[in-house]
Amino acid sequence: MSELIAEIAVNAPLKQFFSYRVPEPLAEKVAVGMRVRVPFGRRTSVGFILSLGSGSAEGLKDIKDLLDEQPLLSAELLRLLRWAADYYCHPLGKVIRNALPAGLGSDKATTRILVEPVYRCLNAESRPRGSKQKELLDYITQQGQAGLAQVREKFAAPHAALKRLVELGCLEQAEQERQRDPFLLEELPQDKCLTLNSDQEKAVFEVSTAVDNARFKAFLLHGVTGSGKTEVYLRAVESCLQHQRQALVLVPEIALTPQLVARFRARFEAAGYKLAVLHSGLSDGERYDGWRLIKRGEVQIVIGARSAIFAPLDQLGLIVVDEEHETSYKQGEGFRYNARDLALVRGQQQDCPVLLGSATPSFATFYRSEHAAVQRLALDQRVHAGAMPKVELIDLRETPPEGVLANPLIEELQATLERREQALLLLNRRGFAPFLLCTDCGTSFHCPNCEITLTFHQRERLLRCHYCDYAEPPKEHCPKCQGLNIEPEGAGTERLEVEVAELFPGVRIARMDRDTTSRKGAHQKLVDQMVHRQIDILIGTQMIAKGHDFPGVNTVGVLGTDSLLNMPDFRAAERCFSLLTQVAGRAGRSSGGGKVFIQTYYPEHYALTCAAKQDYHEFYRQELPFRKELGYPPCGHLVNLVFVGNNLPQVKAEAEGMAQNLYRLAQDVEVLGPSPCPLARLRGKSRYQLLLKAIDRAALRRLVLVVEGLKNKLKNGVGLYTDVDPVDMF
Ligand code: ADP
Ligand code: ZN
Repeated sequence: MSELIAEIAVNAPLKQFFSYRVPEPLAEKVAVGMRVRVPFGRRTSVGFILSLGSGSAEGLKDIKDLLDEQPLLSAELLRLLRWAADYYCHPLGKVIRNALPAGLGSDKATTRILVEPVYRCLNAESRPRGSKQKELLDYITQQGQAGLAQVREKFAAPHAALKRLVELGCLEQAEQERQRDPFLLEELPQDKCLTLNSDQEKAVFEVSTAVDNARFKAFLLHGVTGSGKTEVYLRAVESCLQHQRQALVLVPEIALTPQLVARFRARFEAAGYKLAVLHSGLSDGERYDGWRLIKRGEVQIVIGARSAIFAPLDQLGLIVVDEEHETSYKQGEGFRYNARDLALVRGQQQDCPVLLGSATPSFATFYRSEHAAVQRLALDQRVHAGAMPKVELIDLRETPPEGVLANPLIEELQATLERREQALLLLNRRGFAPFLLCTDCGTSFHCPNCEITLTFHQRERLLRCHYCDYAEPPKEHCPKCQGLNIEPEGAGTERLEVEVAELFPGVRIARMDRDTTSRKGAHQKLVDQMVHRQIDILIGTQMIAKGHDFPGVNTVGVLGTDSLLNMPDFRAAERCFSLLTQVAGRAGRSSGGGKVFIQTYYPEHYALTCAAKQDYHEFYRQELPFRKELGYPPCGHLVNLVFVGNNLPQVKAEAEGMAQNLYRLAQDVEVLGPSPCPLARLRGKSRYQLLLKAIDRAALRRLVLVVEGLKNKLKNGVGLYTDVDPVDMF
């Protein structure tokens, strides 16, 4: 007998899908994309319906429940998720879960409950009995309606009483989406009515034409800092809205781009469009609300960080990826996807153009633009004042600094302060000092869980691991020689702050890094203070380089450049160039003629000389031959296999075992390693890696499938994760 069968991805770390019978009562309601509860092993599990068909149900278990009335995942979104699961070698059930706001991936209630009194039915038999029920009902009647959290604040353990009141018909449950908008309190800037310059005009024309045609096309908006890229995004989104389609705007980390969000809101909310903002600072409830709103089609524009690539937009007309070179588009753990790359896939699947913007495009994107897969749109001029900042490299071999700052930079800061202008100082390392050293015997202090020195944080008086958050107070004596001469070595932002305060007493100094911005709203406050010129010198990590428009900044100093260049990663030069160019771009945005100083021991390095000239093309021209010769991206493709376990020899043995198999089976793929990861111990686990490299993506893919097949042969609890297109080799 032929019956209805559902193919289901179970929320478990398993690659395969499972078939279940759809029992009669559910058959009418069931649809692809719904969540279900199914028996799985000895327990029940949540799963997602991938497809429905008919056939013999012999030996199949029944679906227990449907958890949704409407499909949670549209066919389009499911297609994207399946593609991603396959490409990144991650179980589909987990991928789906990752794409949904917390709460929806599980079987918890999907509606936020709100109770309202029902006036009509207060007849005798349905009158509440207990005094608690009465009090509750009185309270809610008085309020008109109340949310669960609100009730819980007033009454201890209100659940049973509420439930009874609902059963009696005195209260009604309603689903209500609370509009909690973290940006609501902010003042919106006045929307400026701008006349586009000719480069902007051309870019907008190209993208809008693609939007009109509702076809996939990829664009690189390559515009120097301050060239008006955001205005191009705004216009492109406008043309998308005119077609009654939705726009998705991805930004690296939204908490760090309040100015961009504000400009979108100023332009579109006034015109009556609805925006949803998704980012990591939201509570689960807020994220959930935003997701439901989008799902119901009530939102025209979604702005969000990485995971917003999975926003449930069915009428997508345009995807914008701002600062597309940013590494934060890649998720570093679990499901290791790259949202920028998925944007291109989604654009293809949903027939809409994708606009990637940057002043310093990733090599991957620029390479594609040279090979016609991506159309490059250039904005080569700054909008205001024209002139790009003047960049000077300070050779530390000639002017060795006493502290962190070299003399020419100190003098420039002095002059800046006298002119009543603002300055930015970038040092990409937080804390006071990267390590403490016993100057008698040379002992330094390491994290017990990770193979890395502990960073000294002076204000907290703690040694901290920047990978696993382990912390301990610094010791008075050296544990090895009992010596008392323990000194902080090197400098982080905290130390720089102290030094600057000593050099310039009375000057308003602030610091922006992970330590000072962990509280909600703290980052925003610093940005506001900068804009309103309540800070003279802002010190910070790479955070200060991101997209801000600080009109009063004419001076930028960059410190610790050499440690950027010397990261153990083939992309170190690219990252360094990109960061320097971005931070330099913060100078002189309104007046022109900004000045940038870069301190280094190696001013001849092409990443620095090119950054000094703000010359992306020259940097690309010099760097590409290295990549080509070694077959590294963008000229080749990489997959990193990372073996993780408790016991180092076992991890090594498993990695070697896999390597032996792969050496034998690899065709047109280089198998490099195994070798200990650059961070060979992390969070208490030992790690080995095996790097697969190929010019031909298909060949690499074939070998990756072989690895997937061998995964379950690993012994001794050694785990293996597959990082496709890794961006970070730690
Ligand atoms: P980018 O994102 O390329 O760094 P922005 O989009 O932030 O640059 O633009 C820099 C500044 O120039 C903003 O204050 C913006 O309002 C302004 N601007 C952009 N385009 C124009 C234009 N066509 N005319 C006048 N001002 C403009
Ligand atoms: Zn650690």
